[in-house]
Amino acid sequence: GHAHPPAPPKGTAVPGVKAIIAVASGKGGVGKSTTSINLALGLRDLGLKVGLLDADIYGPSLPRLTGLAQKPEMEDGKTIIPLENFGLKLMSIGFLVEEETPMIWRGPMVMSAITQMLRDVKWGPLDVLVVDMPPGTGDAQLTMAQNVNLAGAVIVSTPQDLALIDARRGVAMFEKVNVPILGVVENMAYFVCPHCGGRSDVFGHGGAHQEADKMGVPFLGEIPLHMRIREMSDAGTPVLVSDPQGEQAAAYRHVAAGV
Ligand code: ADP
Repeated sequence: GHAHPPAPPKGTAVPGVKAIIAVASGKGGVGKSTTSINLALGLRDLGLKVGLLDADIYGPSLPRLTGLAQKPEMEDGKTIIPLENFGLKLMSIGFLVEEETPMIWRGPMVMSAITQMLRDVKWGPLDVLVVDMPPGTGDAQLTMAQNVNLAGAVIVSTPQDLALIDARRGVAMFEKVNVPILGVVENMAYFVCPHCGGRSDVFGHGGAHQEADKMGVPFLGEIPLHMRIREMSDAGTPVLVSDPQGEQAAAYRHVAAGV
């Protein structure tokens, strides 16, 4: 049978949070987490109060992306105070458990961990909470899309055909549960040579844009495949923090403005 995990009542809102936006991808490794944090920073730059929940409990990336390792503090023995960095409120299962802890979660445990990070964390007051979803379009993602009061979803894809097929599944999943698609971001859209500055369309060009048009959803923009994005992410200082005037930061800000 299909035992459903314990879930909050449909459309659970998070106290003090005006809008929750999911960032999703059809599969792992396309840059969903990197896009999530830079999107959150881009929204911050628009003057919004922003939080970022790393809901990828299989492979939490927020500790690496922010350089934070301390455990969040508790209030009244049950409310978790989110960490803060770069003007963002931040929460990740990675702040609660050691990085090396094997995470063999079953579906229900996944949902309750995510539910807890939504309900038991003192998020508010926030204009936007960006949720970096677990990769893929399986049961856990569907349950979450159904149970959280999402204002909309952003789909991250690379330009390859296979990634685009997966992205289509992501769009279909959110449409099935009536969550508006805010748009598609094409990550690793083209390569900029750090030596000569020349541009190469490694995976072809414009695939995600065409796919978005075909699906009738907005195209939010292209993010180049760039050394600096990877280096700064790994250093815990995303490009919108370390190089806010740079071209890569501008690409993310363009995406944020479209959301
Ligand atoms: P996902 O969350 O989809 O698994 P990540 O955001 O963790 O993917 O990205 C996977 C790897 O690719 C990371 O090492 C990240 O730094 C790198 N990366 C993501 N986007 C870019 C980009 N536009 N340019 C260069 N490296 C990138």
